[in-house]
Amino acid sequence: MKLIDGKAHSKRLRRELKEKVSAYKGQIGLAVILIGEDPASQVYVRNKIKACEEVGIRSDSYYLPADVSQEEVLKLISALNEDRGVHGILVQLPLPKHLNADVILKAIAPEKDVDGFGDLPIGALAKGKPTVVSCTPFGVMKLLEGEGISVAGKHAVILGRSNIVGKPMAMLLLNADATVTICHSKTEHLKEICASADLLIAAIGKPRFVTGDMVKEGAVVIDVGINRTQEGKLCGDVDFESVQRKASFLTPVPGGVGPMTITMLLWNTYLAAART
Ligand code: NDP
Repeated sequence: MKLIDGKAHSKRLRRELKEKVSAYKGQIGLAVILIGEDPASQVYVRNKIKACEEVGIRSDSYYLPADVSQEEVLKLISALNEDRGVHGILVQLPLPKHLNADVILKAIAPEKDVDGFGDLPIGALAKGKPTVVSCTPFGVMKLLEGEGISVAGKHAVILGRSNIVGKPMAMLLLNADATVTICHSKTEHLKEICASADLLIAAIGKPRFVTGDMVKEGAVVIDVGINRTQEGKLCGDVDFESVQRKASFLTPVPGGVGPMTITMLLWNTYLAAART
């Protein structure tokens, strides 16, 4: 079994990106909006800002109070949509309950939607048209590409159908000529379906759900899940111990898909700037 080292891939891509970004002489900008004081969100935003600095993308941060009105958030997004120095706009989720995330994300101009969470990117992806791709599934595709794993003609099984991971992941793989099965909480015969996968991608948020008996000998297994065990330890949706004996490639948690997500956000910001 080969471990897919997400940190190493991420480092390689950031080096590549730094070179591309340098041609823009500090003119690429990402606006990051954080609403409220959720500690995990604060850490994510800090990491994103740090990553921007690392590759030479300017980040403008907007910290809004938890009780900010929807109108004020929309006003800020509208101003950033008009700002030619801003190429990407990111609203850190989750939002306080009184705000409508769907309305807020839709307000971001499609060409600046570097998370790819709006309706247009998903629609374009479904049609196989070039578009911004949400960061986590984009990162998974880059990991597969970086490892020289071809998906064309292969049976890819995706566990999870969320709008930010499962669905775009399925469309990307379909566009890359894989034969795709999407499973969810109502799927029957899940174990058998998983065991028929050449490529198994777990994105359900259930600690160590995928066990060795659900995996075909030699399958590629990508673990998107980020969970905490009862002892507070970080773990994925895949039971690493039993699956490593069956898989040909496997991503660890942490250190697999996770490091790629921020890198692809930077990549999307660069692509947004390159399109203007
Ligand atoms: P969601 O909760 O939005 O979606 C989970 C999906 O899994 C749903 O489609 C649900 O089905 C399905 N599901 C839940 N239980 C089962 C089950 N027992 N069998 C089959 N399917 C099931 O999660 P996300 O997509 O946002 O995230 C998934 C995981 O990936 C989480 O652990 C999250 O933390 C992680 N994540 C990691 C990222 C990274 O950077 N590495 C980025 C984003 C997410 P149904 O639709 O029927 O409810």
